[in-house]
Amino acid sequence: MTLDGSKRSGSAAALQRTRPIRPSKLGLFNLCALRYLFETERPDLERLSPAPAALLGSAFHKVIETGPTQNELSGKLVRELIRDEFRKAVLSNGGWLARWACAREGIDSVLPRSLLDQATQLTYHELKLRPIAAGRAAIARGDFPSEKQMNPFGSELWLHSDKMDIEGRADLIEQRGSVVHVVDYKLGATRAGEPNPDYVLQLSAYAMVALERLGPRKVVLELRSPRATWAKELDDGLRANVLQTLQQIQTVLPKHEYISSEALATPGTHCMTCSYRPSCTTYARGLLGRTPSDFLSPYDVAGSTESTTSCDGFTTIRIRAEPDDRAVSITAVPSAMLDALLGAGSNVVAYSLKSPETMGRGRYVANFHAWNRITAVDSAYSCSIGFRQ
Ligand code: SF4
Repeated sequence: MTLDGSKRSGSAAALQRTRPIRPSKLGLFNLCALRYLFETERPDLERLSPAPAALLGSAFHKVIETGPTQNELSGKLVRELIRDEFRKAVLSNGGWLARWACAREGIDSVLPRSLLDQATQLTYHELKLRPIAAGRAAIARGDFPSEKQMNPFGSELWLHSDKMDIEGRADLIEQRGSVVHVVDYKLGATRAGEPNPDYVLQLSAYAMVALERLGPRKVVLELRSPRATWAKELDDGLRANVLQTLQQIQTVLPKHEYISSEALATPGTHCMTCSYRPSCTTYARGLLGRTPSDFLSPYDVAGSTESTTSCDGFTTIRIRAEPDDRAVSITAVPSAMLDALLGAGSNVVAYSLKSPETMGRGRYVANFHAWNRITAVDSAYSCSIGFRQ
């Protein structure tokens, strides 16, 4: 059972690939094939809630798709639209703590102002450049027979290749002069000169699918963030990277063949940011101290509840944590969320908490919190706290 009472599915002992390959997940496959399958095949499994930055990304895309006309466009309006879409994203897809904070303190307690500023800046700039929303509005009006038959240029463009067994949605494909530009927006993620290789792999795959329809021509990949735009022409090296990764996926994850989850799990430091940690048995064994565990997030903890104390509507949970009986506390858990869930001796598994301790007590973090009473936006909005028998 979980704090928000959400329905949880158990972990999957064996998984199969049934869908075409997703360009946005190619980088994940290179880290862990099990995570690739979790992300592309099993949205029903238990996973951690998206962080505010990820929800802001959804809000950004929504405003880009449906944003105001050129006549209405102003920075203030864009900011309000993003805030509003972010609030909707929190209420529909946010975690229990983000929804609780939004209801109690308002949306600004979840959305860092600096992130809102960056998203507003990029959105305004893109909407000013072109009326991107026109393509989506045309689809909504039914001007196109189906989204998959749209012309090869536009925003939120659906791409599919039988030949490469790929499908996905590109943020923007446009032609400038004789050059095709394949664009992906990354809020705050692109620093000048240092693109994330996973994003480049994703863009290269989109470009290769687009070229199947357009024929040979020059293609430039672009990663646009509020701070910088990175651009590079699609070349033989980038194409080779995509083809090699596709080949590996087809070999490691042949379609419609069940494969043991444990055989696919590739634990490493990337586990610390894997939102499917609660469904991964390899990770769980590490968290319970049953296998060597240098891949664990220091902000996850499992153990038995020693005591709970409540004050001013918040509860502190004291835990004897596995594997070595260390004393750990989780503070500022809204008491209203704990009703009827905790009892002495209950076993707790918590993921993605936050802590003011930077180094821990020498070897481990001992003081975690859920809600940050001083700086609300620094609360553990992705956290999960569950209870086991
Ligand atoms: S927790 Fe680690 S091993 Fe498990 S699916 Fe995620 S990345 Fe793979």
